Formats: sequence, C-alpha cells, structure tokens
Amino acid sequence: MLGWSINLFKVFGIQLAVHASFVLLLLYAGLEGWQDGGEWTGMLVSVIMVVAFFICVVLHELGHSLTARRYGIRVPRILLMPIGGMAEFERIPRQPSAEFLITIAGPLVNFAIVLILWPLVGLPQGFPFHPDYEDSIRGLWQMLLYWNGMMGLFNLLPVFPMDGGRILRAALASRLPYLQATWWAVMIGRVLAAGLIFLNLYRENYMLAVLFTFILIAGNAEYQAALRREQEEAYWREMARQAVVAPPPPLDEPPLILHGPN
Ligand SMILES: [Zn+2]
Repeated sequence: MLGWSINLFKVFGIQLAVHASFVLLLLYAGLEGWQDGGEWTGMLVSVIMVVAFFICVVLHELGHSLTARRYGIRVPRILLMPIGGMAEFERIPRQPSAEFLITIAGPLVNFAIVLILWPLVGLPQGFPFHPDYEDSIRGLWQMLLYWNGMMGLFNLLPVFPMDGGRILRAALASRLPYLQATWWAVMIGRVLAAGLIFLNLYRENYMLAVLFTFILIAGNAEYQAALRREQEEAYWREMARQAVVAPPPPLDEPPLILHGPN
C-alpha cells in the first residue's frame, strides 16, 4: 500500500514524496470548496489550504529529519499521506537524549510557526476551543496558525510511535533497559490508541479512527523489530562469550571440518 507514491522534489537532499491517495484528498478538498463557497474561488482556496497545511507537515518532518542528520542518521525520504507525514529514518537512535531531541524538534517547528504568525495575524475569535475565522486572507492565516498549534499538541499525545510516545520511550529508556522502555511505551500507546479509536468511531470521526489504527499497527511493528534486534544481539553476545570461554584448540590438533565435501 505504501508503495504507491509519487516523487516530487528534494528538500535538503531528502526526497519528498506523496502517497497516491493524496490526489484523492486534493480532489475531495476541491469538491468541498466548490460546494460550500463560491465555485472556482472556493475550490482554489480549499486546495491552497490543504497544500499549506501539508507544507507545515513537511516543515514538521524536516524538524525531525535535520536533527536526525546531526546524529549521523540518514533520512532518504519524507512521505506525505492523507493522514499525515512520515520521515523515513535509516535507523532510530538508541540514546534517549538523541531520540528526545530528534522527536521534540517536529512539534517545536509547529510551535515556532504559531509564534511567528501570532503577532502578524492575531488569534482567531473564540480561541482555543471554538475558533471562528473571518472570511478573509487574515482568517486563512489564523486557520494555519491554529492548525499548527493543534498539530504540535496532537503529536505530543503519548501514543507510541507518535512523537509523544517516543518522548515517553526516551524518558523511560533513561532509567530502564531499552527493550523494557519500548514495551511500556507501546503498552501505554496501545491502550490510548484503542480508546481513541473507539472514541473517534463513536464521534463519527473516521479519519482519526483510521489514523489511530495505523498508529497502533506501527507501534506493534516497531516493538517487534526492537525485540528481534535485541534477540539477535543477545545471540551474538552469547556466541562471543562462548568463543572467549571455550578453551582454544591446541595447535597440533587437526582443524575441525565444518562442511564435509558432499
Ligand atoms: Zn513528528
């Protein structure tokens, strides 16, 4: 499913790609804009707002990616999907401090955008719970400000592997063994994700229910990968230990033949 993507261009040497379903999102946004407010203008504004929102998603992902690069982690691609963005790291750092900084950098980009836009366009009426945007360019900027604030906060939910879940894992890993820290972060994430899936289904917010299902699956997959890696490392440690403990064969003995000529 993730294979169906369209490469756009490179930013800071990172390939930016959009999932094929993104085209459907743009069509949907265009149609909605056409229906609720003034045909072509409504359609154009609606598509521009979706694009502007995803530019903020890319900036969030660049926050993670450029910080990761400082730790020598390659980031070949940033993939945008209708449910959000994903920076593809070559590996996840194991030092809690590195994971913390790489993770927090994403939401910090969103909060920085809020702090830049705030003095320029002000906060929307009814902020923060019932924002009401004026029908003007300023209203659109206020919407973007609000979305960035929400994006930053939303990603800090401790539902592993969302940013908040990774920060939780990094905090736990500074006290517990890495695998145990991951297990706890995944467990807490699973309970919260399951609750959020049901809540969003109940509230007929299907997009968020799909998002949390995706997060639940991704959390489990990442735990399994960490577990496998730990088991492989334990195996090689054990092999190394046995090799050290076992007395080396005396030199005059014939060497062991491991593979017979058959
Ligand atoms: Zn993030």
